[in-house]
Amino acid sequence: MALTIGVDVGGTKIAAGVVDEEGAVLASALRDTSAADPVAIQEAIADVVAELRAQHEVSAVGVAAAGFVDFANGVLLFAPNINWRDEPLRDGLQARTGLPVVVENDANAAAWGEFRFGPARHVDDMVAVTIGTGVGGGVVSGGQMLRGAKGMAGELGHVRLVPDGLPCGCGNHGCWEMYASGNALQRNARALVQSGAPEGRALAEPVRRRREPAGRADGHRGGHRRRPGVGAAVRRPRPVDRRGHGRHRRGARPGAVRRRRRRRAGRRGSSSARRARRSRPT
Ligand SMILES: [Zn+2]
Repeated sequence: MALTIGVDVGGTKIAAGVVDEEGAVLASALRDTSAADPVAIQEAIADVVAELRAQHEVSAVGVAAAGFVDFANGVLLFAPNINWRDEPLRDGLQARTGLPVVVENDANAAAWGEFRFGPARHVDDMVAVTIGTGVGGGVVSGGQMLRGAKGMAGELGHVRLVPDGLPCGCGNHGCWEMYASGNALQRNARALVQSGAPEGRALAEPVRRRREPAGRADGHRGGHRRRPGVGAAVRRPRPVDRRGHGRHRRGARPGAVRRRRRRRAGRRGSSSARRARRSRPT
């Protein structure tokens, strides 16, 4: 069975794993990184690859990093958290490891993982949203990764949700990332605490914070409710659904679709329930 190594390059550490054809991680290793030194990062990647190759025979390396990637040429055009500007990462790592190397944007890589091995493995079209320090995204359309002319097709975090909203590091205003990321959550929480509002006082109570992890500033705890940005990214025309076209996704069982609809209808109330009843075969 062919094994490969996947490497996730972050601003403070490199995480690498040996992965088989089924997506199982057989071994993993970590390295600390210095975001300011591009050469040291390449050396650290080569080092962690060498460590894993000592135990497993691997045929290729895939590297995922936050930033704008020229996929065809394996060049990291710009990375916000690492001092990479037009970094020829693929060629540099191929020279250091002697293995074929693929370089990809980290959110695209996450999306591809979900598409190949995760919940989206039975569909041809999907959107993945990665929420961490920022908001990232990856779009698979017709079974192909959507990259766009400049490799930024899946940069959902920089879709503008609020006209004339908060300024974003990308140069625009009102980006999704400014409202729904880990950084945004921290900023809102800090502002609430400083305002002296009851919610802020509650946030500042360490004991309570330990017992009940803090949620959104308006009291909503997050969880599974879809936010407007996700809706904008995955919206599909309802009439298609009502007529039943496209209901049976590749590999999806009709019974499972019905059961899922019934569950959703029960959660969402009467109009959805009616729609679900209509869609049931008689
Ligand atoms: Zn932005």
